[in-house]
Amino acid sequence: MTVNILFAAKPDSWAAYEAPLTTALAEAGVAAHLSRDIAPDQVDYIVYAPNSTVQDFTPYTRCKAVLNLWAGVEHVVGNTTLTQPLARMVDHGLTQGMMEWVTGHALRHHLGMDRHIHGLNGAWDKHVPPLAEDRHVTVLGLGALGSACAQAMAGLGFNVTGWSRSPRAVNGVRCLHGDEGLVQALSTAEIAVLLLPLTAATENLLDADRLALLPRGAVILNPGRGALIDDAALLAALDSGQIGHATLDVFRVEPLPSDHPFWAHPSVTVTPHIASETRPASASRVIAENVRRGEAGEPFLHLVDRKLGY
Ligand code: NDP
Repeated sequence: MTVNILFAAKPDSWAAYEAPLTTALAEAGVAAHLSRDIAPDQVDYIVYAPNSTVQDFTPYTRCKAVLNLWAGVEHVVGNTTLTQPLARMVDHGLTQGMMEWVTGHALRHHLGMDRHIHGLNGAWDKHVPPLAEDRHVTVLGLGALGSACAQAMAGLGFNVTGWSRSPRAVNGVRCLHGDEGLVQALSTAEIAVLLLPLTAATENLLDADRLALLPRGAVILNPGRGALIDDAALLAALDSGQIGHATLDVFRVEPLPSDHPFWAHPSVTVTPHIASETRPASASRVIAENVRRGEAGEPFLHLVDRKLGY
């Protein structure tokens, strides 16, 4: 039987996904009708991006699952019209891109590259950086992205601590969890990487008190979500030197407004939410596998816990 799959994302995504999704569904053995225009009561699955025009799921009476193209679900998880299972994206391309962004920006600060890129102005000023094994890195969030980044950093030789809500084990990484674990994880974090989802429990996690726990001059890398950090507290901590630098990829308001102080601050690097992106070829295979599972009566992959919000 043909499965009706509604593609509910921005029009430019359709151009990127139509061919790879069609291929992936065929490879998964799913006979599918994939379209941006299917009568709601005929839709079996929705391939979804939270910025889609579909915000009311009530008419999708036979829909078996909403398959999110993004890793972050904070814009859809609280939608009370959504009663179907919600799966989020865990994708090889997304993970690989994030590992590259995190390791690249961490190495920039670890090696003190800025001094040489900006130029020493003729001064033969030798500052040999410590070895990675003498640099403490903390990754907040040990999920699909955080655990991969923590392992990549450990693979480069860094002394890596990770932190999560529940106990986790990640090869080569000291794993902590819960409130007490957070205090320990922050207290050693010369470089802190934020890879937490935005939920009621993680909003403003890095407030003034927690920023004060970091070693003086620590570097923050935030490719998680903007609202994980209290902006005003971060600016104050940067001004006082408590935080040495913040490299931020995500913001409370995106695009970051042109008058936001982050743009002009000498100790802030802004990257425009490019740390990582779902890659159509690999993500299409994840979507197709979930449709195949749904049709075979097998459990869906990467289901969101609606209560926890991620
Ligand atoms: P996962 O859901 O796989 O992992 C989330 C991790 O955060 C888990 O380890 C979880 O703990 C931990 N966590 C959640 N809530 C808490 C809490 N209250 N206290 C402590 N730890 C908590 O997510 P991903 O790794 O796939 O993605 C992480 C985030 O990265 C996304 O939600 C998104 O916001 C962001 N992102 C950013 C991108 C960019 O380009 N900038 C691209 C893609 C994603 P536990 O293990 O116990 O469940």
